[in-house]
Amino acid sequence: MKETRHKLFDVAVIGGGPAGMMAAGRAAERGFAVVLLEKNASLGKKLLITGGGRCNVTNNKEVRTMLGKYKGNDKFLFSTFAQFNTEDALNFFHSRGMATKEENEGRIFPASNKAVSVWNVLVEYIKKGDVQVRTEATVTDLAVTDKQFEVLLKDGSTVFAKSCIIATGGLS
Ligand SMILES: Cc1cc2nc3c(=O)[nH]c(=O)nc-3n(C[C@H](O)[C@H](O)[C@H](O)COP(=O)(O)OP(=O)(O)OC[C@H]3O[C@@H](n4cnc5c(N)ncnc54)[C@H](O)[C@@H]3O)c2cc1C
Repeated sequence: MKETRHKLFDVAVIGGGPAGMMAAGRAAERGFAVVLLEKNASLGKKLLITGGGRCNVTNNKEVRTMLGKYKGNDKFLFSTFAQFNTEDALNFFHSRGMATKEENEGRIFPASNKAVSVWNVLVEYIKKGDVQVRTEATVTDLAVTDKQFEVLLKDGSTVFAKSCIIATGGLS
């Protein structure tokens, strides 16, 4: 029987919101071959409406104060913030040309007052990393076989990857 060959990505990221774009961009920056799968026709649709279209991108409060707002998940989030904190987030955006401004209660917004500024930085980040983006790619199932992930899409196709990041967000 003829053997069918398929591309094996290092990383498949499911969900093209800010978390997925950030994860995909970072993995690509580290030299991995990445595919980003998004069910909508475009990336970061929700991101564009956040903060009334301005995107409250981060907050300048002390980490423990901020985590106190996430009752029950604060311990889990503490390690996340220890690895990538507000300063890291600001450095990420500032070094890519997005100025920010601080408003009341430490809330930080793009200086442009437009969520699309955040979107532009993230889209540029994944472009620079040569992330393969597939939109209108709804993931319906995920299987692990022989140390690889088989990501099944609604259109019947399958994406193969050595690892998989699920960043499908929450319900709004
Ligand atoms: C009105 C409003 C205002 C907000 N304002 C702010 C704010 O100012 N600041 C802030 O930090 N947060 C704000 N939020 C929360 C914000 O939306 C989240 O912080 C952010 O979107 C989370 O990013 P994410 O990538 O985890 O998830 P999402 O943005 O939800 O992205 C998940 C992506 O996964 C895709 N997806 C889901 N299932 C599948 C599947 N099966 N196959 C393929 N793709 C799939 C979705 O289409 C989506 O694009 C706001 C939310 C709302 C609703």
